[in-house]
Amino acid sequence: MAKRATAPAVIQAACDRCRCETRHKVLHTNKQTGADKNGAWRIVDQMIRCAGCHTVSLRRTEYFSEFTGPDGRPEPMVKYFPAPTPRHRPSWVDELPDELEGLMGEIYEARRGPSVRLIAMGVRAVIDFLMRAEIGDEGGFEEKLKRLLDKGLISEKQHETLATVVDAGSAAGHRAFKPSVALIDGMLDAIESLLQQHYIVGPMVATLKLSIPPRPPQPPRSKK
Ligand SMILES: [Zn+2]
Repeated sequence: MAKRATAPAVIQAACDRCRCETRHKVLHTNKQTGADKNGAWRIVDQMIRCAGCHTVSLRRTEYFSEFTGPDGRPEPMVKYFPAPTPRHRPSWVDELPDELEGLMGEIYEARRGPSVRLIAMGVRAVIDFLMRAEIGDEGGFEEKLKRLLDKGLISEKQHETLATVVDAGSAAGHRAFKPSVALIDGMLDAIESLLQQHYIVGPMVATLKLSIPPRPPQPPRSKK
């Protein structure tokens, strides 16, 4: 008699793309067990697929006899591969010039892990790209930032913010500065706002201006 195929198990698991816990089909499970002088362990690897967006990922659940909760029950550690990103890449990044899109993509990938110094240097490279594209490559960072300000491409406030962000990127590269994750996110906020304004909102407003029909002439007001 033919064996009846069993339906794959369904579990609740985190989906990086849906950005929440969703139902996942378990496509494959691999279990390993062992013991050493410190205790017994069990690792369960599951290849899972999100029922919403169909993204496939790997969930690892680790049990160790020494990892127990207050009630003495084992408390598993759950990890996902790829690791969920704490900062999502905005969709408008796809519309940036190719070199810039690539650079930003690498920054968001790095943000999944602890490479804060690399991200700070990447952010500085993004600002350098924008300056080269707008005003050429002559002079140092300070000089180029001043020229961006003089050309009206950034505001006084943005100039001050970018000067600090550039200095943080330089310090990470040359002065052993290790920014905190909160500072890194602040630096990312600053360049996201700059890039979105420069490459997305600015051109969109220019197109909008051209497409607005002119106001009809007003009839002259009658004199009382
Ligand atoms: Zn999903």
